[in-house]
Amino acid sequence: MLVDTGPGQGDYVHKPGILRAFQVLTHVPLDPDEAAVRQIALLGHDPMDVSHVVLTHMHFDHCGGLADFPYASIHVHQREYEAFTGPPLRWTDLAYVRRHLAHDPHFILYGDGRETWFGLPAIRLPFDPEMWLVPLFGHSRGHCGVAILTETGWLFHVADAAPMDLGEYVPGWVVSLVLGPHAPRLREFAAAHPDIRMTTGHMWLDFFENRDVAGRP
Ligand SMILES: [Zn+2]
Repeated sequence: MLVDTGPGQGDYVHKPGILRAFQVLTHVPLDPDEAAVRQIALLGHDPMDVSHVVLTHMHFDHCGGLADFPYASIHVHQREYEAFTGPPLRWTDLAYVRRHLAHDPHFILYGDGRETWFGLPAIRLPFDPEMWLVPLFGHSRGHCGVAILTETGWLFHVADAAPMDLGEYVPGWVVSLVLGPHAPRLREFAAAHPDIRMTTGHMWLDFFENRDVAGRP
């Protein structure tokens, strides 16, 4: 099971316009070996064994690689699927690239329930070890975080609901314009739950380089 795919192999060959713009703005080097399907193979696994992909949201840089995992079921919040497939209503909807679903993958959609995970409204995913979809709408209309109970404790991936590093200073108006309203609440959550490791969707590589495999400093 994979959480988000990043750009797919096809995106490196035929770059969507939004990816070209993103590349200019962020100076991200586009190396096809970074595609999830190749990274999984480099780790010694067969990418065809990926049978489930959980998506935080469906922007081009999070779901572009779906076609690299054609046998996987795709798990996403219903609101996000509807935002992707419906008419664009706001500027961040420009980050949806229709061709990323051209292979017609099998979707499993989730609506809001009544359960909570550490006090946050959440939806239990049908996986073992325990996993939750944590709605953090704002960056996109159905954007969610994903919480996973790993062998070394809880890992909470808040995707694009907070700046690259939760401790990093980014002006508040930029955060709420691009990332949605949750960053202050997530910072409080991190302070209240120091045992829960938290990551975001876009982090500097050195965040990982100085850590062990479990993500500890
Ligand atoms: Zn996004």
